[in-house]
Amino acid sequence: MNPAVELLGLTKEEIVSFVETIGEPAYRGRQIFSGLQHRRLLDFDEMSDLPKNLRNRLKEIAKSSSLTIENRYVSTDGTRRYLMKTHDNLPVETVFIPEERRDTICFSSQSGCPLQCTFCLTAQLGLLRSLTPGEIVEQIIIVLNDVYGVGAETPHGTNLVGMGAGEPFLNFDSLIAALRIMADEDGLFIVPNRVTVSTAGIVPRIYDLAQLDDRPHLAISLAAPTDELRQKLMPINKRWDIDSLMRAAKEFERSLKRGERFTFEYVMLGGVNDTDEQAIELANLLGRYRLKKVKVNLIPHNGAEQLDYTASTPEQVLRFKSILESRDVSAYVRSPRGRDIYAACGQLAAKGESYGLDNAESAVLSV
Ligand code: SAH
Repeated sequence: MNPAVELLGLTKEEIVSFVETIGEPAYRGRQIFSGLQHRRLLDFDEMSDLPKNLRNRLKEIAKSSSLTIENRYVSTDGTRRYLMKTHDNLPVETVFIPEERRDTICFSSQSGCPLQCTFCLTAQLGLLRSLTPGEIVEQIIIVLNDVYGVGAETPHGTNLVGMGAGEPFLNFDSLIAALRIMADEDGLFIVPNRVTVSTAGIVPRIYDLAQLDDRPHLAISLAAPTDELRQKLMPINKRWDIDSLMRAAKEFERSLKRGERFTFEYVMLGGVNDTDEQAIELANLLGRYRLKKVKVNLIPHNGAEQLDYTASTPEQVLRFKSILESRDVSAYVRSPRGRDIYAACGQLAAKGESYGLDNAESAVLSV
């Protein structure tokens, strides 16, 4: 028998075709899509609008869910970190970040990450594997159900950031498939305009994203203004250097609509990349490529015992910001959320579980 079809990874149209192949009318497909994606039911038995024999048939040939919650950690600031597990026992982490007027869910695109950025804890897991579209969508459903109750209306809009574990652009097709499914107004209805995806700089995929109509916002993790430093911090820079990254960014900028911007993220490492000179170099770099529709998000480093860095001091972060601003670069300081529960940027490393590094591929840059 074929492996069970992962229905959470299918668009409404694909579910309709799927039910037609088993001799069911199209409207059953729409009911199933709505059951999964609008009512957020992860069990066929709860879809009481489907006849019992169809539910039983579905249980044999399809899957309505595949992740399980292992643990949930709640921060003093209200942030929640979910440690989930795939059917093949790999960690998946998702973070819920409540804000006054909206919620943000930070999802993972891979279990672990192959990229080996030296300041990031996720790197220490190595790549376990890329997640399927269904596994990406299910993270959002699980979090919304946990926070608000199964299928309950959410009180405000949900924004998504693809900034959890993994490199989204090394799982580009699944990522885009998941975003298409989530955008459906008969489902979660989270449109691309509410989504930001962050890349460490997988240059060809930046060009691909620039071609897409319905695309999420883009953030690029820069971390250094020179190749010399960047390749020490982010080995991916050996494959795609700053010049190729900036040329791709420029092309992406050309594709932006009026009023849209994209982001460079700059993790602030005390004494490493946060000097006044480096702020000037960064502003000059953006100037050389005439990047105008950009903002820089400064992210103070979130530490961990296993990481050899300290965060820049708050004073230095502000100096860095004002140097950028004095050179006409918009800069913002991101305040960390959920640091106490290992939920902040660069802290997702399946803490709380003894997932080893044994089955990790050290698949650096094998893209
Ligand atoms: N692989 C993608 C998605 C991860 S996003 C990317 O690199 O963009 C995670 C963001 O958090 C990136 O901007 C990264 O530079 C930043 N980051 C990683 N480790 C961090 C840490 N320990 N403290 C603060 N920011 C960190």
